[in-house]
Amino acid sequence: MSQTVHALDLARTFGLDVTKPSRAEVEEAVRTIIRWTGEDPERDGLIETPARVARAFEEFFSGYQENPAEILEKTFEEIEGYDEMIVLRDIRFESHCEHHMAPIIGRAWVAYIPNGRVVGISKLARVVDVYAKRLQIQEKMTAQIANTINDVLRPLGVGVIIKAEHHCMTTRGVHKPRTNLVTSRMLGCFRDNAITRREFLGMAT
Ligand SMILES: [Zn+2]
Repeated sequence: MSQTVHALDLARTFGLDVTKPSRAEVEEAVRTIIRWTGEDPERDGLIETPARVARAFEEFFSGYQENPAEILEKTFEEIEGYDEMIVLRDIRFESHCEHHMAPIIGRAWVAYIPNGRVVGISKLARVVDVYAKRLQIQEKMTAQIANTINDVLRPLGVGVIIKAEHHCMTTRGVHKPRTNLVTSRMLGCFRDNAITRREFLGMAT
């Protein structure tokens, strides 16, 4: 046993991801689910499905391969003293809930007030995507986006609002279509200053 553990440690030292299942194992798991539904995974229409599902999951959960802090590392300081709110509105994202692996389809509003440096605006959208493309709950995702921007950019304040439809409650369970969940996280002056917060909330309707 201890020898096995030692071997795993050694493998990790060399950067080998020994715990990650192989593509073949994932495809076999999908075949099991297909059989469990009552279908025949060997019939023509389904024979390629496990491979397609594996590729789709690779895309849905690609956020684990990226470090969101790195995305925000390149900043611009020639901003002529710009110190007003910067808001990227209506960022569409697709995520999956960690309780049912059902889609969460939503939009994010991301704002900050810079403290001497700004980041390329597309980077804000990429940070949303990196966290969206993981197994999520919306509350956590909202906090992660705001915390990362706050920790890396060190701005005067950050605000994040997310509105999303959760397919685990619109297409199953309680079946309440057209409901959406709204979450927000305000840091720095967005938390302390009611006028700043109101200005941001006004842009997110
Ligand atoms: Zn769910």
